[in-house]
Amino acid sequence: MFRLPAYVALLSICCSTAVAETRAYTGATLIDGTGRPATANATVLVEDDRIVAAGSGFAVPEGARVIDLTGKWIVPGLIDAHIHFMTSGRMYTRPAFFDLTDKVSYEEEVAWIKAHARDTLRAFTCSGVTGVLSMGGPSFEYDTRDLARSMDDAPTVFIGHGVIGHFPRFVAERMIPPWDGELTVRPMLSAEEGVAHVREALARGADFVKTAVDDRGSALLAAAMWWWDWRELEGSIIEEATRHGLMVTTHAHALEYARGVVELGVASLQHIPADEPVDEAFIELARDRGIIVVPTLAIRKRTFIELFTKDIDLLPVEESCSVPGVVESWYEPLPPMDDQSTRYREEGATAAANAKVLFDAGIPLAVGTDSGMIGLAAGSSMHLELRALNQAGVPADYLVHAATLNSARVAGRDDEYGSVEAGKFADFLVLSADPIADIANMQAIEQVVKHGNEFSQRELLPRTLAVTPANP
Ligand SMILES: [Zn+2]
Repeated sequence: MFRLPAYVALLSICCSTAVAETRAYTGATLIDGTGRPATANATVLVEDDRIVAAGSGFAVPEGARVIDLTGKWIVPGLIDAHIHFMTSGRMYTRPAFFDLTDKVSYEEEVAWIKAHARDTLRAFTCSGVTGVLSMGGPSFEYDTRDLARSMDDAPTVFIGHGVIGHFPRFVAERMIPPWDGELTVRPMLSAEEGVAHVREALARGADFVKTAVDDRGSALLAAAMWWWDWRELEGSIIEEATRHGLMVTTHAHALEYARGVVELGVASLQHIPADEPVDEAFIELARDRGIIVVPTLAIRKRTFIELFTKDIDLLPVEESCSVPGVVESWYEPLPPMDDQSTRYREEGATAAANAKVLFDAGIPLAVGTDSGMIGLAAGSSMHLELRALNQAGVPADYLVHAATLNSARVAGRDDEYGSVEAGKFADFLVLSADPIADIANMQAIEQVVKHGNEFSQRELLPRTLAVTPANP
């Protein structure tokens, strides 16, 4: 293999802005995200921010800088297909679930979230997440995308415009209080309002549209949704969005609603039916329509059981990569409230079984976490979700594909993201252990490459931990 003398390598680093440097990552086992089997002793060639070749059977061009990764694994950067920037993952972030406003008011929490936007973005890359799909909310989701675009060490942010819900404003306000004065759930009670939402999505450069069809177990809300004819409304927004080239992804926890929105033409489902087992007719419909499902399994156990009992099964990456203050808040004592763990255990078991049934039936799954929701830290919760899906019976090799290329497909951006292939952005991870042998090895991150920029995981740790004082 051709190797450059050190001074030439230095020269090429110094002048990389003037002359495109080619880098060759050699010797690693490549799991490229497409679902194809791994390639041993592979080479990945990178020029600027793009992959120019990946695989085996081609020569390293003369003059390339060679990075020897013998004994390591290369996988695409993870893409979290369901996140929120408007919430922090802290105990104080959704007072409708855990009311700790006597400790931290909602206004203080919003101020904390704004002040930590940059740290939150870095927590994603620290955890190997180089792309995220925001599921809508206030303008802050767009502001954070702008911030991410100004940083080398932030994930790429794809935005789902919304959340569009088919209920009146006062219901929307009660679900999630206005965020810094802005509604987070956007009511849509007429086709005209749907057209206006799609216009706004286009004007803001959204990547797709996010809707929610959920009665939250309330018979009254269910009656209201039928009164407003949610099918008609959902159908009209899907039609309008599709006319403008935007896909729709929809939040649904109940089989009845999931079936309805798939019939109406959504491209993907957020969450998975948790009220009853999916039936043959649903599987056929899902297959026929080619939808992708983002199960979000980890949330029930973490948020509604572990945070309640305080018996929290933390992953190492949650402790190392989370924004300081997030994990600590989970140990905050709760106000007296009903133990609903039995209900969440049952729903969790149904959701996990449904994920396995859909996987076995060949329905594509993507990986999303609901990061930002209480108990789900930016970035690291991706590893919780991978563990939950694996425990549900989805094998590790499929999960690498699901958490990368399939997640990119949910954003409609698999043209440039989600796999280590020629022509795509150079977003990948160097791991020191085999993620197919054990999905937990996805946490063995040595290096994160984002749009061609290389970072060791140490460089991406929260600054308060990474900076060792020179003169203690
Ligand atoms: Zn969500």
